[in-house]
Formats: sequence, structure tokens, C-alpha cells
Amino acid sequence: MSERQHDDTDQLIADFLGTDQEPAPGNHRSGYVAVVGKPNVGKSTLVNALVGHKVAIISPKPQTTRRRILGILTRPDAQVLFLDTPGVHEPQQALHRYMMREVDAALRDCDAVLFVTDVSRLPGDEDRRVAERIARLSQPRLLAMNKADLLDPRDVVEHVAAHEALIAQASRTDTGATGSAPRAPGAESREAVEPVSSIFNAQLSILTSGTRGDNLDKLLSMLLATLPHGPRYFPPGQTTDQNERLLAAEFVREQALRFLEQEVPHGIAVTIEDWQPRPNGTIYIAATVYVERESQKGILIGKGGDMLKKIGANARREIERELGARVYLELWAKVRRDWRRDDAMVARFLEGNA
Ligand code: GDP
Ligand code: MG
Repeated sequence: MSERQHDDTDQLIADFLGTDQEPAPGNHRSGYVAVVGKPNVGKSTLVNALVGHKVAIISPKPQTTRRRILGILTRPDAQVLFLDTPGVHEPQQALHRYMMREVDAALRDCDAVLFVTDVSRLPGDEDRRVAERIARLSQPRLLAMNKADLLDPRDVVEHVAAHEALIAQASRTDTGATGSAPRAPGAESREAVEPVSSIFNAQLSILTSGTRGDNLDKLLSMLLATLPHGPRYFPPGQTTDQNERLLAAEFVREQALRFLEQEVPHGIAVTIEDWQPRPNGTIYIAATVYVERESQKGILIGKGGDMLKKIGANARREIERELGARVYLELWAKVRRDWRRDDAMVARFLEGNA
């Protein structure tokens, strides 16, 4: 897509949303975009691809992302602050409640919402629950129908219609007769005209592939146009708000998710115990990998320590790439029984490295 077309699209969308009218310093735009959706649709993959840096860990297993993760994209004309979030699901234990509070906080703080679905399948109840959640918001909402690379050509028409209906439905509830939904100040003007809301939602959806990179430039122009004018909040080199220790712990957890099966990986928590730059330039890192049961500890360690070694070797490579330094990574296995059911332990594990 040429720059010229970008401008046209931006202008069109900006006119539509009325975001262009605010006086602002120059033409710079900035704001928070909450990335929400059910587990495993590719939210973190999209955020990494848009930011151009690995800020969130990825896995084929659901519930990989546990906290709000900030991914920062800086361009000459804009700074987009993506809030990657845990997948929306029914909270069953303390960990899940924590995760859903993280989603709510992201939605509360954001300037725009990017709703992500898996278009290779028909939407289900989980997607509808997310749609209902964001229907109550006053911020602009965009729909990324992701995993388009897996979409069977014979399903395109049916699936796209079904996914777009999610958000059109959401907008109808939003402007419907009940009218009891909370509104942010200044949002009334945008929502007073009912047809605009549904047209706006219908138009602002796009087929994407986070893994292949399809349509990410278009998605970004659409997002930029919804953001208010505002300053650059973070220095250009910064891509996330997570410190190196937190990223290192996440990279260890990513490899645990990769190699462990069934319930074991979901009960993993990683804490960094020691971090020592050595005179020869190597960084010594010691981390504890927690599981919930004694039996899981055996699986985590593996025969002759093989499993823990494999997790450690793969995580070390990721950490080295991130830090640009040689790393000596030592992993310890420990049991913290049923920590996911304990609010205090959940907070300790999820916030401990931050
Ligand atoms: P999240 O739970 O929504 O954050 O999903 P992740 O980003 O962790 O991705 C879940 C799984 O889907 C991983 O195995 C990804 O590699 C895969 N995935 C993500 N986006 C795409 C996509 O556009 N196409 C395909 N084929 N796979 C994807
Ligand atoms: Mg994720």
C-alpha cells in the first residue's frame, strides 16, 4: 500500500470518528490500544509483530499470557501503546481472577480496543462474551479476524459474516434501549447517532495473519487513525515496560509451556533469584521454576535432569538474544502446592520479578 493511500484511509477513518478535530501539538498521535480476545487467537503474536520485537511469550497452549503486557511501537508520527492481555475466560481460581482483572484494567485505561478472533473457525460463546464485555465501552473498537492464513477459501464468506456480526451485535447492545452502560466523558457525541456505530464497527474489521504478517500495515493505519493526538510517552528505543528480569522469567516459562504437557505447564511460575554480571561479560542468572505438585516436580526435572536442562538451554538462547550478552542460566525446581488457588501467592509470582 502506498503512503498516499495510507493518508486517504487515515483521513477517511479520522473524519468518521471525529478524532481529527482536536487541537494538538503537531500531528503526532499516541494512546493505549487494549488487545483482547479469547485465549489462543493470536493476540500476543500480533502485538509482537506490530511492535517488531518479542515483548510477549507465545505458545499453542491457552492462558500463556497472565498479565497486561505493554508493547510500544514508536514511529515518527505516532506512538502506539499496545496492552496485550490474558485471554478472556471463566475465572475458576485465583490465577484466573487475577488475569481477568488485568483485562478489565487494560480496557479501562485504553484509548481504543483491538478485538482479536480466530477467523479460521466460526465464533463461539467465548468470543461472544468478549464482544459483550467491550460493547459497554465508549472507545473505538476494531476487529482483527486473525489466523486468516488458516481460513479455508470455501469458508471466507460465512466466517467473515459471522465474525463481523459479533461486533455489530455488540454495538447494537451498546446503543440499545437499556442505555445504562457507563459512558466516558465526551463519548456521547460519537454514540448518539446509532447507525454510525454499527457502520463504524462493520467497516473497521480486517482479516489478518500475525504469523505471516498479512494486513498488519493496514491494521496499523486503522488503529493509528482511532488514536488521539498526543505526545510520545516513552523514549523511541523502548519496546516494553517489562524489565530484563521479568522478560527472562517469561522466556523460561515459554520453554516450560513448550516442552511440558497437560496440566503441568499451566501450574508453572518462574522467579528470578539471582542476577550477576560477571567480569568476563557473562550474566549469571539463577531462577526457580515452581510447580504445584511433587509429582509434577519429577516431570519438570525429567530423567537425569533432561527436561529441566532442555528448558534451560532453550530459554538461555532467547535471553541471550534479548540481552545481547552471554548468559549462564541455572534453574531450580520447587513445589508450591496449589499456588494458583492462593491470591497472595498469585500476586507474589506474577509481580515478583517486576
Ligand atoms: P494468544 O493467547 O491470543 O496471545 O495467542 P498466541 O499469540 O500465544 O498464539 C497462540 C497460537 O496461535 C500460537 O501457537 C501461535 O503461533 C498461533 N498463531 C498466532 N497467530 C497466528 C496466525 O495468524 N496464523 C496461524 N496459523 N497461527 C497463529
Ligand atoms: Mg497471549
